[in-house]
Amino acid sequence: MGFLQDQIQILTRRVKRIEQNPDPSMLKTNKLRYEMDLDEFISIQEAWREGKNFANLRFGGILAQSMGFSANLGGANWGDRALDPQKYLNLAITKFGFPEHTCDRTMVRLGLGISGELPITKLMSCARMICEPERLAAQAEANFTGVHLFELPRLTSYDYMNIQILAEEMAKMIEFAEHTIPGIKYDEAKLIELQELDHEFIKTQRDVYQLLKRAPCPMSPQDTFRMTRPPSRSMKPKKALEFAKMYRDELFERADTGVGGVTEERLRVAWLATGPFGRETFDLLSKKGIGMPLFYRDEIAFEYGAEKNDYGDDSVYGKHLTPLEEIARRSNCLHWGGDAELWVGPLVKLCRELKIDAVVDFLQAGCVPTKNLKKITSIRLKDELGIPTLDLEGRQMLMTEAAQVEMNKRLEEFLDMCLANKKN
Ligand code: SF4
Repeated sequence: MGFLQDQIQILTRRVKRIEQNPDPSMLKTNKLRYEMDLDEFISIQEAWREGKNFANLRFGGILAQSMGFSANLGGANWGDRALDPQKYLNLAITKFGFPEHTCDRTMVRLGLGISGELPITKLMSCARMICEPERLAAQAEANFTGVHLFELPRLTSYDYMNIQILAEEMAKMIEFAEHTIPGIKYDEAKLIELQELDHEFIKTQRDVYQLLKRAPCPMSPQDTFRMTRPPSRSMKPKKALEFAKMYRDELFERADTGVGGVTEERLRVAWLATGPFGRETFDLLSKKGIGMPLFYRDEIAFEYGAEKNDYGDDSVYGKHLTPLEEIARRSNCLHWGGDAELWVGPLVKLCRELKIDAVVDFLQAGCVPTKNLKKITSIRLKDELGIPTLDLEGRQMLMTEAAQVEMNKRLEEFLDMCLANKKN
C-alpha cells in the first residue's frame, strides 16, 4: 500500500473514530483538521492520476500555487507521517549510503521521495538556511529523480541585501519553470492574495499566543504539538484560514470557561526543537499536570509576535518590498540555521512572558542545527530566567521500546525534581 493511500486510510479512520466516540478532553476542531488533511491527500492522489504538475519547494512553497502547480509536496513533515518509516529509511540508506544516524525524518522523507509512492515533481527548491540534512536530502532526491533543484542562498546578514538576493534567485527559478514546464505561469496577483491570507493567519496565531499566557494553559500537551499551517501551504487556503480562526475561537472558549489542557496545571514547560513520538510521553505529561504553552521551533517566535517582520511592514527595511521580497523576508524570521542569538533571544523572551518553569530541549538524534545550540540555550535560560533545562535525546520515529522507556524515565525524573523545587 502506498504512502498516499496509507494517509487516506489513517485519516478516514481518525475522522470516523471522532464521530463515533468523541473525546471531550480533545479539541473539537481536531476533526476539521483531519478532514482537511484527508481532503488534501485525496486531491493529490487524483491530480497524480490526471498527470498534473507537482512541485517540492522547501523554501518559497507559497510560489507553487502562484505558478499553477497542483500541489507542493510536504517535506520532512511527510516523513513524520510514514506508517512504516523503517522501509523508507532503508531505501535512503541502501540507495545513497546516507548514515543511519542522520535525523530520521529527513532520511525517511528521502526514501519516500524515491520510492515511487509519490509523484515525481517537476521542480524542487531548498535553502541554505534551515538544516543541512534537509538540504542534502533534497539534493540526493533531485539527483535520483533528475528534477531540477534550485538551492536558494541566505547571506550571513539579516538585512535587505539578504532578501534582495533571495528574491532575485526566486525570479530565476520562476523563469526556468515557465520555460521548461508546460502549463506553468507565475501569477503575481495570486501570490499577493496568498500572502494576505497568511498575514491574517499570523494575526490568529498572535491571538493564540496571548491566550497561552493564561494559566491553566488551555491546550493539552498533545495539542501543543499539532501545528497549524499557514493557508498558503494548503491546497484550499481560504478553508485553512477559516480553520485557524475556528481553532483560535475554540481555545478562547475553553480558556473563558476555565478548562485547561490538563486536569490540574502544576508546572509550565516549554519543549524545544522536535516533538516526541509515542502516546506514552503525552500521557506522562498529562498525568503529571504539565501545562505546555510552548513548542519552540523554526518560525514560531515570529508567528507569536516576539519578532516583528510582517508582510507589508515597510518600516523594517525602510522600503516597500516586492511580493518576491516579501517571501524572502521570511528567511530572516527562521530561528535556526543562523547564529545562536536568533534562536535563544526570542526563546528567552517567550519563556519569560509565558511564565515557563522548566524547559525540555529535545534533540532528535542526528539533528545538527539544534545540537549546536544546546549549551548556549541552557546557560541563557538559567542565567536570565533561573529555570532548568533538560537535555533530552531520542529518535523521533525509529525509537526502540527500551529507548522510549529510558527517555520517559529521564523526563519523569526531571519533572519530579522541578515539581519538588516549585513546592519549596
Ligand atoms: S530534526 Fe533537525 S536535522 Fe531533522 S529536519 Fe529538523 S532541523 Fe533538520
